[in-house]
Amino acid sequence: MQWRRFEMAKLIDGKAIREYNLDKIAQEVAELKENGVPACLAVIIVGSDPASRVYVNNKKKACERVGIRSLEFALPAETTTQELLELIDRLNADNEVNGILCQLPVPEHIDKNAVLKRILPCKDVDCFHPENVGALSTGTGKLMPCTPMGMMKMLEYEGIDPAGKHCVIIGRSDIVGKPMAMLMLAKSATVTICHSKTKNLSEMTKQADILVAAVGRPNFVTADMVGDGAIVLDVGINRMEDGKLCGDVDFEQVKDKASMITPVPGGVGPMTIAMLMQNTLTAAKMQNGIE
Ligand code: NAP
Repeated sequence: MQWRRFEMAKLIDGKAIREYNLDKIAQEVAELKENGVPACLAVIIVGSDPASRVYVNNKKKACERVGIRSLEFALPAETTTQELLELIDRLNADNEVNGILCQLPVPEHIDKNAVLKRILPCKDVDCFHPENVGALSTGTGKLMPCTPMGMMKMLEYEGIDPAGKHCVIIGRSDIVGKPMAMLMLAKSATVTICHSKTKNLSEMTKQADILVAAVGRPNFVTADMVGDGAIVLDVGINRMEDGKLCGDVDFEQVKDKASMITPVPGGVGPMTIAMLMQNTLTAAKMQNGIE
């Protein structure tokens, strides 16, 4: 990538790629149902956090869109860890439930790690159980973390093979940065993970063929941090004072330097719930011995 680009980057359209994936998932869900396996996702929400409520409603809508049955368990904020674990045990034992998800964050007094560990790995559609995290790092996992898997599907859709490319990821969270590194490695990319202690960050990011920004800071990635022709995936969802959403990448600057870029909104975000549907389908197949 030695040439200088002057035209605007191609937009990677997350909504269109989401719809493409949801269509495929809906078809497989229907086939599974015809074979006597109606896929089902159970979603647990504790308390009344408004953002969590929106996420849970969106998950229900996505289930309806692809024909997955959804069950919601809305528990009061005072629910104890023990009560939550008992509900998870019941859902673990219910053969009609294929996927279980506990919407985060849970109230402070609840032992989040105990909750995430209690969900059976084969029903862990968020891929947070330590067993699934381990399987991800050995490349043996079937359930994948939703946001990173969504980004891999976007690259696949655009015909981009990560093999041999240098993928630089800003952010090392358990939800995005680390699992994205594992998925990229599994596709034979060369991976660099950067974080708040990384020195000379822009020297690192400028080397990226694929740059993933998962920082949680609006417009953090500026044009001088991006190499000519890089593919830029913006995970950030930052709510600004005017109520608008803003990514971690300064889109206006970077779009003239990158070869491809995801917008915010309408980029990586829409893919996450689609991948939750994918994991529920995969879990239903696994539990019924269907490859
Ligand atoms: P997080 O847990 O807060 O992690 C942020 C990462 O950014 C950390 O690893 C942190 O480094 C690093 N960082 C912070 N300041 C930095 C700096 N100045 N230089 C370099 N690295 C820096 O966030 P997250 O959960 O990964 O989420 C990141 C963003 O993605 C947020 O905006 C979130 O809302 C969004 N998100 C979107 C989706 C989606 O569906 N599209 C899903 C999940 C998250 P340290 O580890 O050193 O602190």
